[in-house]
Amino acid sequence: MSAVLLEINRLNKTFESAKGSVHALRHIDLHVNEGEFITVIGPSGCGKSTLLRIVAGLDTGYDGSVKLQGRTVDGPGIDKGFIFQEPRLFPWLTVEKNIAADLSLKDPEIRRKVAELIELVKLQGFEKSYPRELSGGMAQRVAIARALLRQPKVLLLDEPFGALDAFTRAHMQEVLIDIWQKNRTTMIFVTHDIDEAIYLGNRIVILKPRPGEIREIVPVDLPFPRKKSSISFQEMRFKVLNAFEKVDELELVDSSGI
Ligand code: ADP
Ligand code: MG
Repeated sequence: MSAVLLEINRLNKTFESAKGSVHALRHIDLHVNEGEFITVIGPSGCGKSTLLRIVAGLDTGYDGSVKLQGRTVDGPGIDKGFIFQEPRLFPWLTVEKNIAADLSLKDPEIRRKVAELIELVKLQGFEKSYPRELSGGMAQRVAIARALLRQPKVLLLDEPFGALDAFTRAHMQEVLIDIWQKNRTTMIFVTHDIDEAIYLGNRIVILKPRPGEIREIVPVDLPFPRKKSSISFQEMRFKVLNAFEKVDELELVDSSGI
């Protein structure tokens, strides 16, 4: 059994504003083991980003408890990597300098690690390229390498492939699984794409909106590499859709013509 890395207990989050209050998250209980790949899925506005920001320490105004390795999360830090939908690179720095960022490439150890990560995210040959010369998928891989260089305990990804076209997105999913299988960084990946959640996750956390609550946590017992066209993947799709829609399973089987 792996050790528990992240413990979220009875997390509640309300936003207060002049227009009134928004109960964004209600009674969230979630324990994530070291090395797990968790996907979080739910409709727009159900609190996915809020949950991720709280785990990242970017929002500390919550009720309940959020602990990483037994320590209360009370602010951001390099132990919690964050990947946004857009890569947020420095336009004036090359790929390798973007990855190193505040760390010096003059340090041989940093240079070695950056080279290793460039290989991991499959950007060999682009070390000296600038962000404007990269495709969206490549830029996002730079952002992932930059986060991994800090060896975060957990990598938090907020719809990181949301702005990419379908083919690039599928390729990025493969690259991310490859990264995860090689270095086993714990991942919490937010998406509103059911196939993406199934393709990547060991467990899928399904949220429902207003207030954001966990509707169900669905384990995905499919071996990697997963095939979106397989029967077992199709069955998972039914399971997740069912959790969303609370549709009678028999109805789904009937409508599929099986
Ligand atoms: P998601 O990422 O699932 O689309 P969010 O976490 O961004 O959802 O938002 C959850 C709810 O909280 C929404 O109703 C949103 O309008 C509200 N919300 C998010 N951030 C703020 C904020 N800074 N101030 C007020 N309300 C907010
Ligand atoms: Mg969001």
